[in-house]
Amino acid sequence: MSLLYDYLDGELEGVSLERVKAHFEACRMCYPHLRFEEAFRAAIQRAGRGEKAPADLKAHLLELLESTSAES
Ligand SMILES: [Zn+2]
Repeated sequence: MSLLYDYLDGELEGVSLERVKAHFEACRMCYPHLRFEEAFRAAIQRAGRGEKAPADLKAHLLELLESTSAES
């Protein structure tokens, strides 16, 4: 799954970016992970900017993430 994180971190470019992006959008296994990671990072960023976020949101999302990755 490291490509997912490279993708989200913006570390992919050119052909690699296009191939990975196309794969995530077409792959039923990867797509849910991508959507979850995007939502997770957006929530973290909102919290980092001081916007209102439930105090236990991070813990809740981390639990979800752990249960999600445990299945794969
Ligand atoms: Zn895939």
